[in-house]
Amino acid sequence: MTSHHHDICIRDYDPNTSFIDDNAIWDAINRASAPSANQVRAVLDKARQCEGLSIEDTAILLQNQDKSLDEEMFAVAREIKNIIYGNRIVLFAPLYISNHCANSCSYCGFNADNHELKRKTLKEDEIRKEVEILEQMGHKRILAVYGEHPRNNVHSIVDSINTMYSVKDGKGGEIRRINVNCAPMSTEDFKVLKTAAIGTYQCFQETYHKETYEQVHLKGKKKDYLFRLYAMHRAMEADIDDVGIGALFGLYDHRFELLAMLTHVQQLEQDCGVGPHTISFPRIEPAHGSELSEKPPYEVDDECFKRIVAITRLAVPYTGLIMSTRESAELRKELLELGVSQISAGSRTAPGGYQASQDTRNKASQHDAEQFSLGDHREMEEIIYELVTQSDSVPSFCTGCYRKGRTGDHFMGLAKQQFIGKFCQPNALITFREYLNDYACDKTREAGNELIERELAKMSPARARNVKGCLDKTDAGQRDIYL
Ligand code: SAM
Ligand code: SF4
Repeated sequence: MTSHHHDICIRDYDPNTSFIDDNAIWDAINRASAPSANQVRAVLDKARQCEGLSIEDTAILLQNQDKSLDEEMFAVAREIKNIIYGNRIVLFAPLYISNHCANSCSYCGFNADNHELKRKTLKEDEIRKEVEILEQMGHKRILAVYGEHPRNNVHSIVDSINTMYSVKDGKGGEIRRINVNCAPMSTEDFKVLKTAAIGTYQCFQETYHKETYEQVHLKGKKKDYLFRLYAMHRAMEADIDDVGIGALFGLYDHRFELLAMLTHVQQLEQDCGVGPHTISFPRIEPAHGSELSEKPPYEVDDECFKRIVAITRLAVPYTGLIMSTRESAELRKELLELGVSQISAGSRTAPGGYQASQDTRNKASQHDAEQFSLGDHREMEEIIYELVTQSDSVPSFCTGCYRKGRTGDHFMGLAKQQFIGKFCQPNALITFREYLNDYACDKTREAGNELIERELAKMSPARARNVKGCLDKTDAGQRDIYL
């Protein structure tokens, strides 16, 4: 487990041919219809090995109709989440830089045909303001989001990222990892993006079903299904080794989307030697200026959404699963247990939204610039307090792996579990202590420090001593310590 940067070796692939075979996916779904209890339990036993699942096995879980077997499946998902991730939960804040968009996606409020939307691309000083606010909330990780527009070309994206990294709040506040969610680029442009020291490059296929894809993408570059499908191949070609994929649930049959997403994972493993770093689970939310978003054609209810998250946890145990503020606090708690490993906190989906919500007079006006409405408006500190007191979770602001060059890695089983015990859990505690010392109120600090003590007690004496040493240094004022 040395820290090193890999040059990713990409196998020849044909960017003009889809690796999603609709018939093969439907065949897998149909072959698995009405599985027996024995079949389902056999798959659950395989899943317990933490080595992932095949498309066929995953289809069996998707097709299971027996609620009590679903409960058994949820229990296995909780087990895997616990073994591999422990009770850490990584927190980040989305930062919408621009809602200018030349595309017309029928589910999105930023679509070019939405003339009601107030368009805004943040200028350098406005970006600074937003980042300062996020730093004062305690954030260390940002997900920067951009519409697809000539204004948001790779050079302006790189400039905006440089600005974000340069903002320091004077209290040790700084942004240590910036993930990017923007339109897919050519390999050459991805190489330019890489120079900004981004963390994960994120781009969702929205729907893997080509026919549906063509129906919901009405104009602009995003109409090109294949160009998007191979975005991650090109990103890896450009040596961006953490990539994040996702599907927008609600556009097409969730069973198809999940199996297609797994096919995407396998294709990346095969062609690039490593699968995605993260998978995201956006569900369509109502957005002003999008009729489709008011009534998604394949709406996924909470129960179904829980199954999607749990099945993904079983199928790709080592891939980080990301959930956004789009979900309610209650559901969020359940999904954390089932396998989600990263959540956004205290988020705004309009460019300049953090600044606007500080200025209460502006409170009403930000709605006409946002992408969709949020299910959860609680501030970061409330979310942290809830995580600590209600979910016994350790909020983590760790960015250690990426900065030590431990990216793109794809090792399985015991080795990875030891790695996590050695690095992730200690780093979570150290960065959480930073947060408690620098940004939390007394109530949260007290609850948080009790949690840290409980976690130290679970470690081996040698490791606990080592971590305690780092916590003491943090208390003495040292910042950004990581293993
Ligand atoms: N313009 C880039 C793109 O489309 O890839 C990046 C920004 S776009 C706002 C980021 C993501 O927001 C999309 O990939 C889509 O999955 C999600 N999204 C769009 N409309 C949504 C809605 N109504 N509810 C939830 N998520 C939505
Ligand atoms: Fe533009 Fe992205 Fe929204 Fe589509 S999803 S309208 S490309 S911002």
